[in-house]
Amino acid sequence: MKILVINCGSSSLKYQLIDMDNESVVAKGLCERIGIEGSKLTHKADGKEDYVVEREMPTHVTAIEMVMEALQDAKYGVIKDTSEIAAVGHRVLHAGTVYSDSIIVNEDVKRVIKECFDLGPLHNPANLMGIEACEKAMPGTPNVAVWDTGFGMKMPEKAYTYAIPHEYMEKYSLRRYGFHGTSHLYVSGEVLKFAGLDPEKGKVIVCHLGNGSSISASIGGKCVDTSMGLTPLEGLVMGTRSGDVDPAVVQFICNKEGKDVNEVLNILNKKSGVLGISGVSSDFRDLGAAAEEGNERAKVALEVFVYRVAKYIGAYVAAMNGVDAIAFTAGVGENDMKTRKDVCAYLGYLGVEIDDEANNCRGKRQMISTPNSKVKVMILPTNEELAIARETLRLV
Ligand code: AMP
Repeated sequence: MKILVINCGSSSLKYQLIDMDNESVVAKGLCERIGIEGSKLTHKADGKEDYVVEREMPTHVTAIEMVMEALQDAKYGVIKDTSEIAAVGHRVLHAGTVYSDSIIVNEDVKRVIKECFDLGPLHNPANLMGIEACEKAMPGTPNVAVWDTGFGMKMPEKAYTYAIPHEYMEKYSLRRYGFHGTSHLYVSGEVLKFAGLDPEKGKVIVCHLGNGSSISASIGGKCVDTSMGLTPLEGLVMGTRSGDVDPAVVQFICNKEGKDVNEVLNILNKKSGVLGISGVSSDFRDLGAAAEEGNERAKVALEVFVYRVAKYIGAYVAAMNGVDAIAFTAGVGENDMKTRKDVCAYLGYLGVEIDDEANNCRGKRQMISTPNSKVKVMILPTNEELAIARETLRLV
């Protein structure tokens, strides 16, 4: 059975066609610059040359039409017709407090996605367009919404409640939600298997360290806490996002720089994080190179990043009264051995011991702790598309 996974951004659309009989990727691709001049589709199919189509894509509907053409193309395609696609799984950012479990899309689900436009102003409209485009292109084929907030929605009230007047929670569902849910769902579940932990009681911390970064604590795969909040701005220091700051910082910058709240929030989202501290780059490869060349601000940026991760790990060990396994995932977590080593250097009190040779590894599932380590530490590459495809299969 083949499942198409769709991940729509405001001007992009990523897709993967996955054969669920063996969970292999049959074809995948990317539509870029949707609604902007110079749109392009890049399609890669197993065992075939890459296929690039440069044609205007005014909307996501055109993008989906082009994806369907590419999938069925005589030379580059992988299916004869769309009836081979059993279902479509969509990554959808937000359902407010209405849904946490993945769900087959109907009119009610679409209404909720729309009602949550203010909680996900960039993603929810694009996600809805992707769903409607698939409904048009493949009438009768089920669409499944897999919420990026789904994993975090399972955290307990004491973890999701902001200590602000309760009326805001009641009126606006103003609470912590958590994001990167499909990644935390996938990785925490795989860690339980890979580390041979009790599937009901295994205590796992997942460090999703990429351009956007978040961390989660889960017991038996169920979220205990996760670092992103109402929006992805809360928590760890990221490529361009500040993570946790005293909210008074916003007022202070507004007053001193004559800016309004929206402008300062934009700075905290897009010009802060390791980019803001270093002034060098948001890319960890650039930062590592600059730090090696003696750039002091790049060094401080990396130290602040690592320190925040270590601090959250400590907090989550307290939240779970222990931890059995810690996993690193996403661009930095999977590839940057120095960041992993530096984070683990804080964890001696937990009995964490890293095997430097095993840690000298990139992008593959691997245990990096020694056999004597009291906590198992590993690299576990994330696979959000597969998580979405598994959820879709489960429902259809
Ligand atoms: P993601 O958002 O998960 O795609 O991760 C992107 C981040 O991963 C960027 O900041 C990259 O610098 C970082 N990254 C990718 N490869 C490496 C590497 N070999 N060493 C350090 N960082 C890397």
